[in-house]
Amino acid sequence: MKVGILSFQGSFLDHSKSVELIGLTPIFIKNESQIDDLDALIFPGGESTAMRKINNYNGLFNQLDNLIKSGIPTLSTCAGTILLASEVIGGNPTIPNIDIQITRNAYGRQTESFEGSVSFYSNEDIYCFIRAPKITGLLSDNVEVISKHNSEIVGVQQDNIVALTFHPELNNDGYYLDWLHNFIKEGKNVRSF
Ligand code: GLN
Repeated sequence: MKVGILSFQGSFLDHSKSVELIGLTPIFIKNESQIDDLDALIFPGGESTAMRKINNYNGLFNQLDNLIKSGIPTLSTCAGTILLASEVIGGNPTIPNIDIQITRNAYGRQTESFEGSVSFYSNEDIYCFIRAPKITGLLSDNVEVISKHNSEIVGVQQDNIVALTFHPELNNDGYYLDWLHNFIKEGKNVRSF
């Protein structure tokens, strides 16, 4: 199975390692020629403003929007989640597909990056937050909370999309990798996963 990873900048290499560890094939998406026959999509962390600028030379986001809406399993982390949010404080909606309000750089500057205990579905582990955004509003009943740090929401699922503000690809712990494998294997049935 082929997993497309938006690879303009940011943590796309780390995500590709996760994909390889579960025996699937990462495809680095840098332009429109790399989005045929993908089984899943990953939007990595990095800098959402930089990704928006690079896309202006590329025009790729419309095609990615169509792919997400076709229902394939889609994972976003951090800046990737900013790209997919429908409302962005301190930025602009880019490929709006998740009904959340997100606030960029909400924990402060880079030096406020931290590791913390996070629940992710039925597991609890230490994950890192790198100049992370916060999910500051749930804007529809279709958004399910699947992850928390202390009492704050740090991950949601809406239909075929799981959107996180932390970086499980930097852990690659067994629970995350098993989840990722099952999530992608579900294909278009993933809405009810
Ligand atoms: N601060 C970044 C942004 O606003 C997100 C950081 C990250 O992806 N680790 O785009």
